[in-house]
Amino acid sequence: MKPSVSIVIPVYNEIDNLPELVRRVVAVGRSLGRPWELVLVDDGSRDGTTEALGQLAGAHPGEVKSLILNRNYGQHNAILCGFSFARGEILVTLDADLQNPPEEIPRLVEAIDAGNDVVGTVRADRQDTLFRRWPSLFINHLVRATTGVMMHDYGCMLRAYRRRVVEAMLSCRERSTFIPVLANMFAKRTAEIEVRHAERAAGESKYSFVKLINLQFDLLTCMTTTPLRLLSYFGGCIAALAVLFGAALLLLRFAFGAHWAGDGTFTLFAVLFFFTGAQFVAMGLLGEYIGRIHADVRERPRYIVDHIVGETLPDHPATNDPSAHRRAMIPAPHHEVCP
Ligand code: UDP
Ligand code: MG
Repeated sequence: MKPSVSIVIPVYNEIDNLPELVRRVVAVGRSLGRPWELVLVDDGSRDGTTEALGQLAGAHPGEVKSLILNRNYGQHNAILCGFSFARGEILVTLDADLQNPPEEIPRLVEAIDAGNDVVGTVRADRQDTLFRRWPSLFINHLVRATTGVMMHDYGCMLRAYRRRVVEAMLSCRERSTFIPVLANMFAKRTAEIEVRHAERAAGESKYSFVKLINLQFDLLTCMTTTPLRLLSYFGGCIAALAVLFGAALLLLRFAFGAHWAGDGTFTLFAVLFFFTGAQFVAMGLLGEYIGRIHADVRERPRYIVDHIVGETLPDHPATNDPSAHRRAMIPAPHHEVCP
């Protein structure tokens, strides 16, 4: 039977957490009262997790599936891999370290049933080190400021998505991405609920300082090309100030004489600042082109059609154009089209 809820968990060297994780998730899955599946994605583990995942899938036929990646591709790629195999209408993600209690999953499913496309969570009383919390605080503010989507906690991966949002994410061609931000780009209604947060049950965080920085860059480049544009603004400001500086020097030179103006030395500074500013403007301009190339190679869907009223879909011009699928997401006729 086709599952209605898929729970996707990326797993990287979590051997000590696995038995407890699967026991709790299976108990929650069975209590959902609808067909469900658990998709565990092994992200190149080296501590015996791979073998354990094989055994767990064998012990829960029809419920647990294990996908084994050949090396470590990162948490978000592992989740996307899980998404491409999962078949549920509602897809839930969480971490394998039991920091996100699986018992909260029914509340997320309920929120999707209530009509939301994406349901995020806020970690109440977050149980992480200061060193792990501060970068998150900064990044959450930045995301809110640049995307305008009011979510408070982008780092918590206990999240639920409607299938069409996941399909839109899968059709994006970018290599590095940050799933919660990407999902919000295709969501009409989002909700956020508060969930409990526990300390890591066993093992250590899989994010070293360098990996954490790389993740923040993934997040930044996934959501905006604004930093490239800032170069132009910055350069424009420097050049404009240089012009003002030059004009002030000229006036003061007439008022107080050439000696006061350092015999032209400061004029050289004004000229130098002007050209420095102009260089930044030129870099910003290059950045604009790079930003557009970046947007094109990602091939994100331009839009998702929610549903069509008063049109029979097979004759629709967009669906007859084979390349249209890559540019726009048209819903499958059986469950989305209004009569
Ligand atoms: N993870 C992964 N690949 C990686 C790093 C992490 O699949 O390269 C998984 C990890 O097993 C866990 C989740 O991603 O299920 C979150 O990792 P972690 O708990 O170490 O991150 P933190 O809680 O410190 O943000
Ligand atoms: Mg964790």
